[in-house]
Amino acid sequence: MLSVADYHMHTPLCQHAVGEPVDYAAHALAVGLQEIGFSDHSPMLRDDFDNWRMRNDQLDQYVEKVRKAQKDFPNLRIKLALEVDYLPGHEGWIRDLAARHPWDYFIGSVHYVSESWDVDNPAKLSEWKKRDTFEVWSVYFERLTMAAESGLFEIIGHADLPKKFCFVPKEDCTKLFARFLDAARKTETAIELNTAGLRKECKEIYPSPAILRMAREKNVAITFGSDAHAPGEVGLDFSDALQLAREVGYSSCCKFTQRKREFMNF
Ligand SMILES: [Zn+2]
Ligand SMILES: [Zn+2]
Repeated sequence: MLSVADYHMHTPLCQHAVGEPVDYAAHALAVGLQEIGFSDHSPMLRDDFDNWRMRNDQLDQYVEKVRKAQKDFPNLRIKLALEVDYLPGHEGWIRDLAARHPWDYFIGSVHYVSESWDVDNPAKLSEWKKRDTFEVWSVYFERLTMAAESGLFEIIGHADLPKKFCFVPKEDCTKLFARFLDAARKTETAIELNTAGLRKECKEIYPSPAILRMAREKNVAITFGSDAHAPGEVGLDFSDALQLAREVGYSSCCKFTQRKREFMNF
């Protein structure tokens, strides 16, 4: 039995995941989870923004799919959420999305360091070679800090995503991390331990042990997420994530219902 919830999973509506929410739910029960949350990539104001998210007119369909899983699996607590892209200037749009359904939480994620470069996109790997790594990380953490300051999100997703393809600056990033975590603490925004990093080139949970240790010192709350894009990934490597959380001193994590926070011990 797993005492923590898996709060990060996707659906085929985002165009790069497989399996229906009912399949994710079935797998969650099989691996001993008691609570999960769907947090698929939210629509953007413009449907042609990119090709890895649901369209605006699919949002209701998404909610219906999650509702069906809730109905079919009464023994599993299933939360309704979104992984929302944070870009400066999109705050109004994010508030509009929040008003459209009774969400349990929003994960705020930064994938874009400009209007056109999503740093985790393998199709744009060549961009990394044109840029200074520290500069990219600086812009990324500046945006992540703004996301945390905005108070629009319960959770910040995969906090050190730019390490995905192993582009990690030699420079000291302590100040970038500290500014972000101070903002998260101030707005009571949690950060997630996202095990998808273990399945990527960087082979490390997001965020790194160094960032997580700093988060603990600053009293920033945590959640857990597999970032599953297939049913078999639900709850994957949660024993590693729990071990890391305990190692740096965490003994509780957050749960969210209708955007209200509670703590549970693990
Ligand atoms: Zn995705
Ligand atoms: Zn993401």
